Amino acid sequence: MVRRMIGGLLLAIALPLGAQQVKPLDPANMDTTCSACEDFFAYANGGWLSHNTIPADRPRWGSFDELHEANYAALKATLEQAAAHPGPDPDTRRLGLFYASCMDSVTNDRIGPVPIEPLLDEIRLLRTRADVEREIATLQSAGVGAAFSFRSGQDGKNSERVIGQLSQGGLGLPDRDYYTRSDSASAALRDQYREHVAHMLALTGQGTAQAAAAADRVLALETALARASMTRVERRNADSTYHLLALAGLRSLTPGMNWPAFLRARRAPALADVNVAQPRFYHALDSLLTAVPVEAWRDYLAWQTVRTFGPSLGSALEQESFRFNSTVLQGVAEMQPRWKRCVGATDRSLGEILGQAFVRTHFTPEAKARAETMVKNIRASLRQRIGQLDWMSSATKQKAYTKLEAIVQKIGYPDKWRSYDGLEIVSQPYGVNIMHAAAFETRRNLAKIGKPVDRGEWGMTPPTVNAYYNAGQNEVVFPAGIMQPPFFDPKADDAVNYGGMGAAIGHEISHGFDDQGRKYDAKGNLSGWWSDADAAEFEKRADAVVQQFNGFVAVDTFHVNGKLTLGENIADFAGLTIAYHAFRKTLEGKPEPAPIDGLTADQRFFLAWAQIWRAMSRPESAKLLVNVDPHAPARWRVNGPLANMPEFQQAFGCQAGDPMVAPAETRARIW
Ligand SMILES: [Zn+2]
Repeated sequence: MVRRMIGGLLLAIALPLGAQQVKPLDPANMDTTCSACEDFFAYANGGWLSHNTIPADRPRWGSFDELHEANYAALKATLEQAAAHPGPDPDTRRLGLFYASCMDSVTNDRIGPVPIEPLLDEIRLLRTRADVEREIATLQSAGVGAAFSFRSGQDGKNSERVIGQLSQGGLGLPDRDYYTRSDSASAALRDQYREHVAHMLALTGQGTAQAAAAADRVLALETALARASMTRVERRNADSTYHLLALAGLRSLTPGMNWPAFLRARRAPALADVNVAQPRFYHALDSLLTAVPVEAWRDYLAWQTVRTFGPSLGSALEQESFRFNSTVLQGVAEMQPRWKRCVGATDRSLGEILGQAFVRTHFTPEAKARAETMVKNIRASLRQRIGQLDWMSSATKQKAYTKLEAIVQKIGYPDKWRSYDGLEIVSQPYGVNIMHAAAFETRRNLAKIGKPVDRGEWGMTPPTVNAYYNAGQNEVVFPAGIMQPPFFDPKADDAVNYGGMGAAIGHEISHGFDDQGRKYDAKGNLSGWWSDADAAEFEKRADAVVQQFNGFVAVDTFHVNGKLTLGENIADFAGLTIAYHAFRKTLEGKPEPAPIDGLTADQRFFLAWAQIWRAMSRPESAKLLVNVDPHAPARWRVNGPLANMPEFQQAFGCQAGDPMVAPAETRARIW
């Protein structure tokens, strides 16, 4: 599924108790000693930045996280109730037993890695390449990211059908570049990773020397996979990851692999063809399966298994996993309290059961009606903006209107909840439940191959504080979790709601027309519906956004990657523009609203956008995100698009030459 989100990769969940007290726009967050025309992020959020610190158990802190904290308290109450009174309803029992088993630290510490021992025993017995291929299939079915990824997904050029999707994978560090960079900081991080692998393996019973030697082989094998992998920028390109192959084509790409045996072992439905997103990766993998000794594959597969399930197998593995993934990679000093980790795990494993309770208490028909009106107005605004473009031909405009009209909007929660029938949750230990849930999910996913696309499905759980556009289904999706203050407040003025939730809605809708989204047509097919001249003109205009963001510093000497963040930066710029004009349209025929707290309606619109992005980040976390997150850091999501907008500059009286006014000759102009 091709999804473009509003929030970062590491943002999770949210519900609101206490969120009612959050003002959608709070003058106390501002620092009016800063000039709005010099650094609008600091002007809007300087007060908040000086009064807050990042909690010890978080990589960063901002409005998303504030909502997340309040929401977790509500989810906790639901789960404690279910754990205390599981009752006869099978889904409530699943919730209660899962959460209780997660909270049972005594049993988990006593059992430790026992739940994965049958898998580790199997891995120790591998002797041949055929054994390794079969074990990769077994582990993938269990939910382990072994060597590569085989999942179901929409056919990029025939959006009615679900096919098998083969993609690169199998790494333990956050990105392939972590393995290939030659600078000393990257080399030092790889040393820390190697130590971490050895520690984790030792905790499952390997001797220290054996585990250290295994870690060397793991790093060497993962490095070979990384070298064969596409970069994140390359993977963003929808055209370069579409390679539909009949099974005969797959055989000639990877002559050494026994695909029929693999597909049988995965219990995949019959398939005639498959999309191979990164053919070069599979070509290299085929060679590695022969060239790398089976002993190294055994170490690697054991490591991937321990890595996947370790955090659920007692405190020794959990703490070592935390030490590397949270402390080393993100600078986080303290583990979250157990109940928060368990709420998060339940949302990930049983999200559409937990979400039902959430929407009963946290989402109203009134909120849904307000949101639907905003979406309707913002779509109309984009249509009008397209009509005014002087660089797009009328033929392309007609097709753009068709696509815009076809966008499906999903708000709040699914019409039909997912079934968890067949998922066995036991009273203990937790590791077994996590493994059951992971295996259930991989079965559910693969079973879709060959079936029609289920257009009712959701890719996020209802309490999630985030939203997405899915290009394959040409749909925008807004979970109940984000439809709350400070993003959306039924009691707030329109200026604030359009600057917050409205711009987020505009962001998602406009993803259908960003540098990748624009390649998909109204039905969600990669089809090249733009005229060549219009496409070339768009690319030129998008390149101005790439150059603009390349110039921003993310942290220390690390610059924002303008190409990695292009789709999101276009969506922010477009979303703000169309939400602003949709807001102005609501005022037509009415007097200009009186200032509130000394701020005009237009000023409040732009301040609302800036304040939802109030955030601070640990330097380690910022370095991780600049590598992996397709979103720019919060400061630049505010200052970048606003510096391109005359509407903003007029609202605050900014002049040519001010930092918040992009120079006319390089300024981006798209929608
Ligand atoms: Zn986005």
